[in-house]
Amino acid sequence: MLIHHQPLTRFIGELFVRFDAAPEDAALVASHLVAANLKGHDSHGVGMVPAYVGNIRRGKLNVAAQAKVVHDKGAVLLADGQMGFGQVVGRQAVDFALERVASTGIVCTGVRNCHHLGRIGSYGERCGEAGYVSIHFVNVVGHDPLVSPFGGREPRISTNPFCCVVPQEDGPPIVLDMATSAIAQGKVRVAYNQGVPVGEGALIDHEGAPTTDPAVMFEEPKGALGPFGKHKGYGLGLMCELLGGGLAGEWTAAQASHEEQGFSIINHMLMLVLDPDLFGGADGFRREVADMVDYLQSTNPAVGTERVMVPGEPEIAAMETRRAEGIPIDDNTWAAILKSAEVAGMTDSEVDDLIS
Ligand code: NAD
Repeated sequence: MLIHHQPLTRFIGELFVRFDAAPEDAALVASHLVAANLKGHDSHGVGMVPAYVGNIRRGKLNVAAQAKVVHDKGAVLLADGQMGFGQVVGRQAVDFALERVASTGIVCTGVRNCHHLGRIGSYGERCGEAGYVSIHFVNVVGHDPLVSPFGGREPRISTNPFCCVVPQEDGPPIVLDMATSAIAQGKVRVAYNQGVPVGEGALIDHEGAPTTDPAVMFEEPKGALGPFGKHKGYGLGLMCELLGGGLAGEWTAAQASHEEQGFSIINHMLMLVLDPDLFGGADGFRREVADMVDYLQSTNPAVGTERVMVPGEPEIAAMETRRAEGIPIDDNTWAAILKSAEVAGMTDSEVDDLIS
């Protein structure tokens, strides 16, 4: 099906309100998820709703929790998300950092114990749109690891996203935002729901042999996702684990806590926010960024490529298309969302009213 973003946001927001989320928090979560769909990342869009609902019902996601500052040392801030919606507590941590960086020029903020933060680029974009550079290291725990270390057969870490954002004077920020696995686990889920294979080089089966079958991530005997870029992606994923989970967070995938806690999705994020004005030449920096972007975009395209883009551009293009045409949602994903609405106590006619 195809659905427009406004009714979809309304529906998902109302669904979380039925689980006692404050209307403004529910609206923030819904608009974050729908924005991920708009930007082409269905893996981090409304398809996550059934997992969130499951975690609310199991007591793993506290819909009322807000970020609480636990250390405040000037340019270093640490907040605890208290297992609240990542979209709410992550946004609050970003806002703490943006408020502080105005006086310190550089801020290192950690936010730990967040339920799924969703698309990390949204936090970077908030910094970039305010004129700051930001760098984000995130680890993912609360469930069994998904990604094998380079050369390994069993999973040991998760899809640990890395994000770096640079503002542009006359345009949207440059947004590098990526899982450090070969592909995001959510993209394997989308392929599994659609009954299609994933691209080559992303998955191994339980014997360590390459496969394109997404079922190895959902059915026993389970395999693993590989890191992107062989040893390099593995190394970056490890740094997300150590800095996001170890330094800012309370635990890494090495801890057994996830086994004790049962399934959840917990993110810890270490974030650096930098004011380009304090690096001796903001005008020069802005000019270098603009010149470099022009230089890259002037490259003649290789065979099979329409044009060279900078990171963040594919998401802007997807958003323009999907805002106009609607967001595609596959039948299995939609059925699971409707099931969540039923669990929330919504009737079919209430859902129909919200999405029409
Ligand atoms: P991706 O591979 O689609 O894109 C990665 C980056 O490459 C993006 O910045 C994109 O703009 C850029 N890019 C893509 N094509 C490009 C091109 N042709 N030219 C220039 N740049 C290009 O993203 P992904 O790795 O599948 O990650 C998807 C999302 O998953 C991200 O938003 C990430 O934050 C999120 N994620 C979240 C978690 C979590 O636990 N919260 C875990 C993993 C991933």
